[in-house]
Amino acid sequence: MIKLRKGPQPAVLSRNGEPWKAEYQQALAAGKRRSDIPARYRHPEIKEAVRAESFDKCLYCETKISHAQFGDVEHIVPISAKPEDVVTWENLGYVCQVCNNKKRDYWDESCPLLNPYHEDPNDHILFLGPWVMHRPGDERGRVTARRLHLNRSALMERRKERLDRIAALLDEIALMPPGPAKTAMLEYLREETSKSTEYSGAASALVSIYLHDGMNGGAASTHLTRPSAEAALSPSAVDSGC
Ligand SMILES: [Zn+2]
Repeated sequence: MIKLRKGPQPAVLSRNGEPWKAEYQQALAAGKRRSDIPARYRHPEIKEAVRAESFDKCLYCETKISHAQFGDVEHIVPISAKPEDVVTWENLGYVCQVCNNKKRDYWDESCPLLNPYHEDPNDHILFLGPWVMHRPGDERGRVTARRLHLNRSALMERRKERLDRIAALLDEIALMPPGPAKTAMLEYLREETSKSTEYSGAASALVSIYLHDGMNGGAASTHLTRPSAEAALSPSAVDSGC
């Protein structure tokens, strides 16, 4: 999970949001089941917009959702809790089917799941290698990781594969002398850990730890501070580390 920024509301939602919301509320009042009410929020324009703003990834687990799969338009606050937000743009995101099934209608006003559009998940969770852990004492981080099963075996395995590739790159860079080739490799590493890449939260955390702590001999206690791959990849940090 990484911090995301909400893009502009799709035109189709600007035009139809109010009537769609009224339609939904009237259907509920008439006793219709949710599954029998048209899911206007799944309109292709809306789905494309939420997909693009989360870089083709599930907003919770950061798995890339391929065209062969069906990413879901997610209500961050479930409509069972807030039906009035059925087509509220700020309440819509893009998720994989696994996270969607794990989350279901979970809602606890006093302990909501992390919302990467409203807050930086790094303030609540840590990436320790392939493992996602809540920051000590952080109940929302703990509940989010647990509810969404963010350490499910398939995810752990894929994150580990990704981190193995990053670690190999870091090894290669560390052994290179300063110069254009090293600069180019660092740029490649920066791209490999950018937000658009799969599991970039775990990948950028590894780069931060490696360059700040591993190569610079820092203390393990920095695991408790928020990592910043961008800072770790700055020329000064890299030159002193490598
Ligand atoms: Zn997911």
